[in-house]
Amino acid sequence: MFTASLSLEALQSQAHKGESADYRSWEDVYRQQWRWDDVFWGSHCVACYPGNCPFRVYVKDGLVWREEQAGTYSTVEQGVPDMNPMGCQKGAMWSQMLYAKDRVLHPLKRAGERGQGKWKRISWDEALSEIADAMLDAIQDNGPESIIHHSTSNGGLMGGISLGPLISKLGGLNTDIQGEINDFAPGLYITFGKYNPVSSVDDWFQSELIFIWHRNPVYTAIPWYHFVAEARYKGAEVVSVAPDVNPSTVHADYHVTVRPGTDAALALAMCKTIIDEGLYDAPFVKEQTDLALLVRLDNRRFLRARDVQDGGREDQFYFYDSKTKKLAEAPRGPITLGKLDPALEGTFKAKLKDGTSVKVTPVFALLRQTLEDYTPERASQVCGTNPEVIRTLARKTTSKKTNLLTGWNAGKYYHGDLMERAMCLLIALTGNWGKKGTGIRNWTVGMFDGQFIFGQKTKAGPEETSRILTMRDQMIQALKMQDPTMTDELAAVELARTMVSLDTTVPPAFMWYYHCGYRENWNRSEWNDPTMKRTFDEYMEEALSKGWWTGAARPAENVPPRVLIMCGGNYLRRLRGGQNQLLTHFWPKLKCTVTVDVRMSTTGLFSDYFLPAAHHYEKTTFHIPTQHIMQLTLSEAATQPQGDTKPEWEIWCLLAQKIEERAQARGSTEYADNRGQAHRLDGFYSQFVVDERFRDPDNVADEWVRDTVVAGTLPEGTTMETLRQKGYARFTDLGIAPYSLGQASDVRPDETFAPFRWHVEKGFPYPTLTRRAQFYIDHDWFLEAGEELPVHKGNPKMGGDYPFLLTSGHNRWSIHSINTTNPIMLETHRGRPHLTMNPQDAAARGLADGDEARVFNDFGEFLLPVKLSPSVMPGQVICYNGWEPYMHRGWKDQANVEPGMVKWLHLAGGYGHLKYWPMQWQPVQIDRSIRVEVANANGRKPR
Ligand code: SF4
Repeated sequence: MFTASLSLEALQSQAHKGESADYRSWEDVYRQQWRWDDVFWGSHCVACYPGNCPFRVYVKDGLVWREEQAGTYSTVEQGVPDMNPMGCQKGAMWSQMLYAKDRVLHPLKRAGERGQGKWKRISWDEALSEIADAMLDAIQDNGPESIIHHSTSNGGLMGGISLGPLISKLGGLNTDIQGEINDFAPGLYITFGKYNPVSSVDDWFQSELIFIWHRNPVYTAIPWYHFVAEARYKGAEVVSVAPDVNPSTVHADYHVTVRPGTDAALALAMCKTIIDEGLYDAPFVKEQTDLALLVRLDNRRFLRARDVQDGGREDQFYFYDSKTKKLAEAPRGPITLGKLDPALEGTFKAKLKDGTSVKVTPVFALLRQTLEDYTPERASQVCGTNPEVIRTLARKTTSKKTNLLTGWNAGKYYHGDLMERAMCLLIALTGNWGKKGTGIRNWTVGMFDGQFIFGQKTKAGPEETSRILTMRDQMIQALKMQDPTMTDELAAVELARTMVSLDTTVPPAFMWYYHCGYRENWNRSEWNDPTMKRTFDEYMEEALSKGWWTGAARPAENVPPRVLIMCGGNYLRRLRGGQNQLLTHFWPKLKCTVTVDVRMSTTGLFSDYFLPAAHHYEKTTFHIPTQHIMQLTLSEAATQPQGDTKPEWEIWCLLAQKIEERAQARGSTEYADNRGQAHRLDGFYSQFVVDERFRDPDNVADEWVRDTVVAGTLPEGTTMETLRQKGYARFTDLGIAPYSLGQASDVRPDETFAPFRWHVEKGFPYPTLTRRAQFYIDHDWFLEAGEELPVHKGNPKMGGDYPFLLTSGHNRWSIHSINTTNPIMLETHRGRPHLTMNPQDAAARGLADGDEARVFNDFGEFLLPVKLSPSVMPGQVICYNGWEPYMHRGWKDQANVEPGMVKWLHLAGGYGHLKYWPMQWQPVQIDRSIRVEVANANGRKPR
């Protein structure tokens, strides 16, 4: 794909070389495109997860001339198609973004009001001096926790996220990326103690029944959708579960329509069918789940060892063994049953330590009672799916390797956790995880251990690496010695949980509550779950007073944020509540806002400083490694950074130097952070950079690769040199990160990857309270909510009592705002944001296709044209995300009708796995099924 005139212009300028090119016309440019001087490896290290597509990047006269898919990944498993060619429309035009007009090439300082669009160009030295001073002022006035950093994966592993350690060393706060982007899966976390099972994309080929559920991969998963089509050619059946007829639906064998947010009712009715017809996989259920554990009927709590004996464990649970007709301790690890045969039904007596007896029954029996409300006929009234369709699909899942190909949609519903728990129950009853071609999915990181090790290094080289790995091994071994039932995964998770109070990564929910005005929204009972028995404040107060969020609930109420540094984050687009919320409540508190990005964003427009980052192809970095792809993918610097732009790592080094320099000039190099920990700023730069040779990002990359080899996660002999030859290397092991170990399967060189095999094949315990996939949560609050087992609850009326449910999803080609302003991408859409609406609904409101609509509720409004389509059911409107707010009239997007609610129950803690650690259990904001009304804008000006 080319925009020849742009490239001609670029080539003719030849500014960096001081030469003039000899191109006579645009046709000549076209003819000469097959000539180049050099070829590099490239990828696009953005939030196109799982991405990792290897590209060849062609350079002529120092300019990136074009790119193409490399198609170089080798076949992994005999008989399974390879991943090639890997690529998408965004990647195919990336070089156009490199030279696009919205790139910022020089540091800028605001010269007018925030958002007024007036800027002055300043030097790096001026910009960093002023930012460093603002940071030092914040430390002096409010402590370092008033410095907030948030970055996404834009720029890859050496992009914004590499600023985290600098902020940590200052005692500042890094907001948890999971809380920010909300690609969390709370229901998976509640069930498995981890949110992120991930199969390799080629493993989907092994499935026999694929549910595309809360997902639209034809739109959003361009590089790997072919595995779904190929599985179908092989005989797999594909079921699309969605309210709308979307592009993935038309390639499915069945379209199961559900009303938005009613998926739990559908899944539970399938579960009921399976149980009623005796089709469940009893051995799997008894061993891998908590459904055989006994629950006391007097208080609906699990029967625990502390109930039956003095000094008994809080986390020792019981079965009723059908063979011995006695209560038996449920193994804590391994969880294999041996000679035990736990009962799933019946009521039994348990003798307590005080000599009294209580009646107990297995969770399964309670589940059977709960499911009485979910006959297919009754569920059909809720979700709209025909009862016979529910029965047919349920039966299919019992006989086929079933894969729930889920996206990041369910978790964005208020009761998405219940939907996900119900979906997990469906695959639990049918034994559909821990085997190839089965499971449910989310996203994950890990395996590139060198990156984690680097953050702990005090000097360069492999000896230091060995020291860190040995220290980590000793801590893991110590935990395993304390509790011999622990696996490496459980010990790594435990270690991560205990580090929270020392960590500087925090769930952003508390900052939003204290400092961004969300407290008022979250306390509006009419926008909340009507089954809430207390106010949000009361739940928050209890959660904090019980210490459930100790160490994580920061910045505290008395520490107002003063400096916000964002790299690729675009808060004013993405954070639910948008400008209505943030410019009103948050921005006025900030004395310094800094955006670091490759191009001007809406958040950049409202910042005080804009620091221009080098683009992909202008710096060395890596895509986010994931088991989905299982490769470390290199993206090289193919060309020099344009203008004054710099790779992010270089910017952080300069900032560290400047902080040290300014602190010395101000005579204040020592301070205590908000928790009383002492910090020194003399030597700050050396602490951050570790070794002067790491000033060069290429040397950091080299160290990361070498250290990953030492950790045993990349093949012996892998270096930056070998990566530069091949472009990628396949991981050989899960490595040391808890996120990665949670996949719980061997990485085999000749097999596709399916997670949770260690649980199923070896009986390794899960990181939950009960050490099993847990469907019964006997936490006080879950009992209070009536959510101890998965149930269906309706969407609260978030935003007010309005007739439409506003939903979203990724735009076509899965573009994020970084790509959405590109003319080529826009040509593949309508070229501007739009609201997809059913024609009947539109006609009732006097709206014709293309008319500008006003979408509003009690929280706010935004304007955009409607696109009429019968593919959307009446009562639903869809606004895909990714558009820049400034592409709307008045610069406001759908975030301005989203009050940014969180589900109160997700503040629960102090219970087994319901504890925070980075990227795990935390309240996240809701943006699906917001209530709105739609009216003809009639030229109305935006508010
Ligand atoms: Fe692949 Fe992402 Fe690049 Fe698209 S943008 S080609 S998905 S790496």
